[in-house]
Amino acid sequence: MKRKTVATSTLSATERRLQRLGLRTPQDCVIHLPIRYEDETQLHRIASARVGQTVQLEGEISYNEVQLRPRRQLVALLRDDTGSIFLRWLHFYPNQQKQVSKGQLVRVRGEIRSGFNGLEIVHPRVSRAGGALASTFTPVYSTTDGLTQPVLRKIIGQALESADLSDTLPDTIRHRFKLMPFAQAVRTLHYPPTQTTLSSLEERSHPAWQRIKFDELLAQQLSLASARALRLEQTATPLNANHEPLFNALRERLPFALTRAQERVINEISQDLSRAYPMHRLLQGDVGSGKTIVAAFAALKAISSGAQVAVMAPTELLAEQHYHKLQAWMTPLGVQVQWLSGSQKSKNKQQVLGSIAGGETQLVVGTQALIQTSVEFHCLGLVILDEQHRFGVGQRLALGQKGEQQVSHAPLLPHQLNMSATPIPRTLAMTLFADLDVSVLDELPPGRRAVVTKLVADSRRQELIAHIHSEIQKGRQVYWVSPLVEESEALQLQTAVDTHAYLQQTLPDLSIGLVHGRLKSAEKTEVMEAFRSGEISLLVATTVIEVGVDVPNATLMVIEHAERFGLAQLHQLRGRVGRGAEQSVCVLLYQPPLSAIARQRLRTMYETTDGFEVARRDLALRGPGEFLGLRQSGVPLLRFADIETDTALVEQAQSLATELLSNARDIAQVHLDRWMKGKHVYLRS
Ligand code: ADP
Ligand code: MG
Repeated sequence: MKRKTVATSTLSATERRLQRLGLRTPQDCVIHLPIRYEDETQLHRIASARVGQTVQLEGEISYNEVQLRPRRQLVALLRDDTGSIFLRWLHFYPNQQKQVSKGQLVRVRGEIRSGFNGLEIVHPRVSRAGGALASTFTPVYSTTDGLTQPVLRKIIGQALESADLSDTLPDTIRHRFKLMPFAQAVRTLHYPPTQTTLSSLEERSHPAWQRIKFDELLAQQLSLASARALRLEQTATPLNANHEPLFNALRERLPFALTRAQERVINEISQDLSRAYPMHRLLQGDVGSGKTIVAAFAALKAISSGAQVAVMAPTELLAEQHYHKLQAWMTPLGVQVQWLSGSQKSKNKQQVLGSIAGGETQLVVGTQALIQTSVEFHCLGLVILDEQHRFGVGQRLALGQKGEQQVSHAPLLPHQLNMSATPIPRTLAMTLFADLDVSVLDELPPGRRAVVTKLVADSRRQELIAHIHSEIQKGRQVYWVSPLVEESEALQLQTAVDTHAYLQQTLPDLSIGLVHGRLKSAEKTEVMEAFRSGEISLLVATTVIEVGVDVPNATLMVIEHAERFGLAQLHQLRGRVGRGAEQSVCVLLYQPPLSAIARQRLRTMYETTDGFEVARRDLALRGPGEFLGLRQSGVPLLRFADIETDTALVEQAQSLATELLSNARDIAQVHLDRWMKGKHVYLRS
């Protein structure tokens, strides 16, 4: 398949419009599939037309008038053997008026409405009576300004004639997976024969749709698998020196023993790191499962081999907390740990950058933005990205099918560990992360008691405040998360400030802190330090504390206006408590009346503390696009298949992809060429 490339300036207006729809070649047009259909295969009788029905009628115009009241409009009356119906145009051209002059025999098409004088059709489509009826349903395509359905239909019709519709899959495979031939599938979808049940097309359950969805999923699986294969061909420095001395030294310093899950994952990572191709591993673990210490061991493995490690977090608050933890663990082992921050004084920063470039710094912690844009390493061997979901899967995909998140100027390809507390349900992981290796921390540290979640109506606020007071008297610490204000960050900040002032006034004997996103980094640190040390017992916070903050003595969290938060966010927030051995409580303070979806979210929070279960329900409530934050990123997930309902197809496509890649790469390549337009996915032979 040759791709015709045309300089933009020489494109006709129609070609430009087609390009806007992503239609550049006949092949593109072939899979620009209808969004719905119209039935122009039969004529209806006026007497049997019902309100809301889209009909096609034929008859004689018995009356025609341009009325001026209540506004200028063209009205005509159409009559057949069974009755008559009004046609109405609120704006019209002289030739339209002529088309429906008295005595004309016409065919009209449109939706029946009930008007002032009985049934009517507003802005019907008019053609001459007696033309041949359509022999198939008429496709309606998504289109763009200035490109009408008839023009688009004609272009797509021509494409179906000229494009290569040969099957990418041999008959044996088609039969095995019960797939319709490709040509038949696309023809059926563009021009469904009249005996087709339209609902099976609209619900995409028709065999023709199954074939298209299968092809799409197969292409996706093939490209992910080839990205993976490509990665295995890249070279990274194997980090395989003996890590035992450093590992043992850290174990001795820890106040706890690692869980079996942590041991297993550390082992998996260590093995990956000692290979000569870059690791690309996703570590999933519910909030509180202890990912940070796993990251520390991974870093030690790399450092033992003389490589540098970068630990990156999405927010400065979180990065800083990592820095403190890692420094406390690592510095006694003789590891050089550095902190890189946006607010660092430039002289100090130059020094840090110098020691990273020179190789003295072994571990650097900072925000992702900072490290990726401004740091030159001596020999970066491992990149650890915490709370990867915050960076957006879309971003990851946008960086190319390889999903590489390279740090600029790296002299060698670093290994990469992504850590995420958003568990991704299995089918989603299969379609999105087939190019990654996945480790799961499926065990919480011992002695943890599940957080008890309480739903409390806002009318009981005073009672709640009294309870907070008594908890704090017992030596506990409390978070109060101020409500999310969607419309405006400034308003959200104001709410936090007001809440803080109000609580201070109501609980004058307590020391109450306030942390929010507008504070300078040093101020944030100061407040968090004071909370960590117990100097502050009640911390009013915005969602800046959503991710990763770890203060084990905090046992009560209040989330105000919990109904405004999403499930993932509520789960993350709740994960800030229940980190020590004491029983923790999360109070979801809500303002009735609740919308149906808010009620479901709160019920989910009440019913389960299992992050995977929360994620599963979140996915069901929001759909994959929003679940993954893809909607904003503009990266289309899948055009035709639906990973929630097409699970069986995903599995079949995955198994066939593996098979083709191992013994029929030519077929795989032909299939990719058709489906991965412009992405240039080439398989190595
Ligand atoms: P997350 O997976 O949410 O990032 P953290 O790494 O912040 O979790 O760990 C949560 C808390 O659990 C921390 O206080 C950490 O020190 C503690 N922790 C981690 N592993 C263990 C363990 N094996 N036993 C006891 N406590 C642990
Ligand atoms: Mg964490």
